Amino acid sequence: MDLGVNNIAVASTGRFWSADEFNHWRNEYEKRRGSLQQCGSRHAHENIENVGRKETGRFEIHLHTVANELIEEAVEHDCSHIVFEELTHIRETIPKATWQQLWAFRRLYEYVEYKAKEYGVEVVQVDPRNTSKQCSTCGFTHSDNRTGGVFCCQHCGYENHAHYNASKNTGLQYLRRRQNVDDGGAPVDVRLNRGTLNVNGEYSSTALSS
Ligand SMILES: [Zn+2]
Repeated sequence: MDLGVNNIAVASTGRFWSADEFNHWRNEYEKRRGSLQQCGSRHAHENIENVGRKETGRFEIHLHTVANELIEEAVEHDCSHIVFEELTHIRETIPKATWQQLWAFRRLYEYVEYKAKEYGVEVVQVDPRNTSKQCSTCGFTHSDNRTGGVFCCQHCGYENHAHYNASKNTGLQYLRRRQNVDDGGAPVDVRLNRGTLNVNGEYSSTALSS
């Protein structure tokens, strides 16, 4: 998983959850709040509080939907884990995020963590260092690899959506961490759209040959 401002979530399986709806509502409520603030009466003040409550409720419903779809995606791909980046560093890793977006990321995480249990899917967090600068194919890490929303590896030429590349790295980060702790568990991999990545970032296709 990767979290972001334009796409609230991107999964290594290739599914994107756009933040458009979230951002649209935020702007609408912001406008409404602004015009009420100008009024300044006690009635307007009460109205501002109502708008705030409504806004939170609306966002929570939306985040529940995203959380459900995210778990659906994990179950469909037979995932044992959903890997998030550590939320304690989210302010540094996504400096453009507003406080509402930071709130949304935390809420989303809570919902996913809570609901995933029902399906036997574990939710974990990993250190997000370099996940946006590192190539998920060859491992080359450089800030030039990323230009806005596009990732283009300066070493191997791998090109893809920046957040999609980062979502694969988040999964890989967890695999590497698991590798260092010998838990005797079954071999693990990162689930992609059509295939998997092992701990060394090597791709295998799961498409059946016909
Ligand atoms: Zn590369």
